[in-house]
Amino acid sequence: MDKIIEVNPRDRYIIVQPGVVNADIQKALLPLGFFYPPDPGSMNSSTIGGNIAQNAGGPRCLKYGVTVDYVLGLEVVLASGEIIRFGSRNIKDVTGYKLSALFCGSEGTLGIITEAILKVLPKPEAVKTLMVTFNDLDNTARAVTDIIGSGILPAAMELMDQLTLNAIEDGANLGLDRNAQGTLLIEIDGVKEACDKEMEKIIEKVRENGAVNIQEAASETEREKLWAARRSAYGVFAKLAPDIISEDVTVPVSKVPEMTRRIIEITTRYGLRVGVLAHAGDGNMHPMVPADKSDKEEWGRVEKAFAEIFKAAADLDGTLSGEHGIGLAKAAYLPLVMNRSTLDFMKKVKQAIDPDGILNPGKFV
Ligand SMILES: Cc1cc2nc3c(=O)[nH]c(=O)nc-3n(C[C@H](O)[C@H](O)[C@H](O)COP(=O)(O)OP(=O)(O)OC[C@H]3O[C@@H](n4cnc5c(N)ncnc54)[C@H](O)[C@@H]3O)c2cc1C
Repeated sequence: MDKIIEVNPRDRYIIVQPGVVNADIQKALLPLGFFYPPDPGSMNSSTIGGNIAQNAGGPRCLKYGVTVDYVLGLEVVLASGEIIRFGSRNIKDVTGYKLSALFCGSEGTLGIITEAILKVLPKPEAVKTLMVTFNDLDNTARAVTDIIGSGILPAAMELMDQLTLNAIEDGANLGLDRNAQGTLLIEIDGVKEACDKEMEKIIEKVRENGAVNIQEAASETEREKLWAARRSAYGVFAKLAPDIISEDVTVPVSKVPEMTRRIIEITTRYGLRVGVLAHAGDGNMHPMVPADKSDKEEWGRVEKAFAEIFKAAADLDGTLSGEHGIGLAKAAYLPLVMNRSTLDFMKKVKQAIDPDGILNPGKFV
């Protein structure tokens, strides 16, 4: 089921089957001057069915929102075999419960998505992309909160620490500054004059936080190169050890500096290396730890460290996942962020829709 059924820029939607790869939606829309905002790092391989099931996000979700914000309607096959359809081709539709929100992020536990109507947006007139390095990770994280606090909402603001940057540089050879303790990849888009003004303010804010090197992508090719490098982070990082655990926690953006400190303190205390990669503008952080699963002692330390990281996120008013979901791995930690009644309520929803528990059994419900 990998067909694009209808592209309708005039009414601002696209209808697709669930097996369509995210990047193919972007390719279909680009020549028409439109785009589909959710852009997971896995966009070249992940499908729209998976994106909806996980309520996927990505770098530009800082400004544009995540998958649920773009699902206008769905066709779903229930565990009973019944087919239901809800939503419509209309941008505004408040007819009954917002069922698309229930299925977005349901991780395949409530039904099989067989068709989706997705909202699309006109492509912004101008895009500007900036790579900024800092010699202090704390300052890097503070630059993020200062930019957001100044009233600018970039399309994306990606933070990388030194270990991540070096892993990227090993793979991409871009001439990045290997000594930088923190790097921000910042992108703004919109009307050209507004972008120019915002860029001036962003440069002022990063300078106030001790930016060492500020480099603007001079062409679309250069911009693509920077993003390709950023998207390669997981792959190149995974080469550092036989296994990698890449987690996904979110904290309010003002707490990104504190969460960064806590991630480093916790992993260091357990004798682990950590790379901090974050969609920092929305507080979504991906601590990545290279380790060896067959080394039971080391893996035990990895598990303990991540249990503390989840707790730290919850303590900072954060949550367990910004985009990867809960699945099997984090189900045990749900009580950190949800009370018993809320967990029971989710179980009741699952029980009502899939009474025999045949859809993705054992996941978070
Ligand atoms: C390198 C890398 C980078 C990533 N970057 C991001 C990122 O930036 N943002 C982000 O959000 N995620 C990211 N991810 C996680 C992952 O790619 C996303 O969750 C993606 O949305 C999953 O899509 P998929 O097609 O791979 O789904 P799968 O992995 O095949 O499935 C995911 C879940 O969805 C269910 N599912 C799949 N199709 C359907 C359907 N038609 N109906 C009902 N349930 C279904 C499956 O049962 C499963 O539980 C990344 C992963 C990797 C490996």
